Amino acid sequence: MLNGEKKISRPLRWGMIGGGRTGQVGYKHRTGALRDNTAFQLVAGAFDVDPERGKDFGVNIGVDENRCYPDYKTMIKEEAKREDGVEVVSIATPNGTHYEICKAALEAGLHVICEKPLFFTSKEGREIKDLAEKNGKIVGVTYGFSGNQMLLQMRAMIEQGKIGDIRIVELQYTHGFNATDKAEKTSDAQKWRVDPKIAGPSFVLGDLSTHTYYMSQLIMPKMKIKKLLCDRQSFVGTRAPLEDNAFVLMHYENGAVGRLWTSSVNAGCTDGHRIRIVGSKASLEWWDSKPNELRHEVQGEPIQTLIRGMSYLDEQCNADERLGALHSEGLSDAWANIYLKFAIAIDAKNRDDRETLRNLVYPNIDAGIEGIRWIENCVRSAENGASWVDFE
Ligand code: NAD
Repeated sequence: MLNGEKKISRPLRWGMIGGGRTGQVGYKHRTGALRDNTAFQLVAGAFDVDPERGKDFGVNIGVDENRCYPDYKTMIKEEAKREDGVEVVSIATPNGTHYEICKAALEAGLHVICEKPLFFTSKEGREIKDLAEKNGKIVGVTYGFSGNQMLLQMRAMIEQGKIGDIRIVELQYTHGFNATDKAEKTSDAQKWRVDPKIAGPSFVLGDLSTHTYYMSQLIMPKMKIKKLLCDRQSFVGTRAPLEDNAFVLMHYENGAVGRLWTSSVNAGCTDGHRIRIVGSKASLEWWDSKPNELRHEVQGEPIQTLIRGMSYLDEQCNADERLGALHSEGLSDAWANIYLKFAIAIDAKNRDDRETLRNLVYPNIDAGIEGIRWIENCVRSAENGASWVDFE
C-alpha cells in the first residue's frame, strides 16, 4: 500500500509546459504529481500560450515569479543555466505542439512526460524514442486512467488464466459532450480538437480511444492486433475530415476478435469508458464510473464484484492502493476540498474576516462538538436498554 513515503531519494525538480489557468488537464497533472510531496516539486513553468496570464497563474499556484517563463524555449534555456534547474518537464499543450516541445526538452537533457496523443506520426515517435535513448532520458505518456490499480488486477487474473483463453475484447470510450457544434463554438479547447493542423489526423480516436487502447495493452500484454477495420463518421459535418464517432473491429494474432467504440456524440452519456474481456471460462469487466469495482463473471457461477483495497486482490494491484478498503475513490478529492476550506478559515481568522468565516461551510469546532453530543446521546440510550432518550 502506498502511504506517501519516499520511493526515490529526493523529489524531482519539475516544470510544466501548458496546463495553465484555462487548460483542461493541467490540474490533473499537478494533483497527480504533487500528491505525495516526495516524487516531484513544481519549480518552474511556461504555463500558457499567453505569457502574462501564464506568469500570473504560475505565481498564483506558488511558483517563483522568476521561474514563470513566457514560453517553453526561454524556460528550457534559462533553467539550463541554474544548478537547481528543472530535470523533467510535463507537456500539457494541444497535440500539434507535443513533438517540437518534446524534442527541445530532450535535446536540453530533460526527461519528458507528455500528453496523448503523443505526436501525429509513429515516425516522429520513433525519432523521439531514439533521441531519448541517446540522451539517456525517459518519455512518459499521461494515459491517466491506466493508473487505476483494478486494471492491474485484470492483468494478473488474465495472466493467471482465471478467464481462460481470450476470445472477445470489447472496448468503449464515449461521451456526448460534442453532440452538437456548440462545443467548438464555445470552447477553445474543443475548437483545436477538430482542427487537423492542431489535433492531428483524428479527433476521438486520438482524444479518447488512445487511452482505452493502451489500457487494453496493459491488461493483455500478450495480445497483438493482426488487422483492424475502422469506420469513422463526422456526425457534425463541419468536423470532417476528423471524426466524432468511430467503430474499430480488430482481429488479434491468437484468433480473438475485438470491437472498440469511441464517440463524443453519444448524446446523454457522461462517462462511457468500459473494458470487457471475454475468455473461454469467464469475463472481466471494468467501468471508469465504478472505479472501485471489477466484475468477474464465471460461466455457470454467481457474478462476483471484486472491490478495491481488499486483501483478496493480487499483490500487484494492492501495491498501488492508496486509500485502503472501505474508502472509495473520490475520497482524496473530498479530503483536498476539506483541507482547502481549513486553510481559507485559518487565513480568514488571521485577518479577522468575519464575513468569510460566517459563510464558509466546513467541519468546524461545532461540528466536532456535535459529533461528541451524538455519541453521548447514543451511548445513554444504549445503556438504558436501547430506549428512547431526548437528544440533549
Ligand atoms: P486546453 O486547450 O484546455 O489547454 C491547453 C493549455 O496549453 C492552455 O493552458 C494553453 O494556454 C497552453 N498552451 C498552448 N500552447 C502552448 C505553448 N506553446 N506553450 C505553453 N503553453 C501552451 O487543452 P487540454 O484539454 O488541457 O489538452 C491539452 C493536452 O492534454 C492535449 O494533448 C490533450 O489531448 C491532452 N488531454 C489529456 C487528458 C488525459 O486524460 N490525459 C485529458 C484532457 C486533455
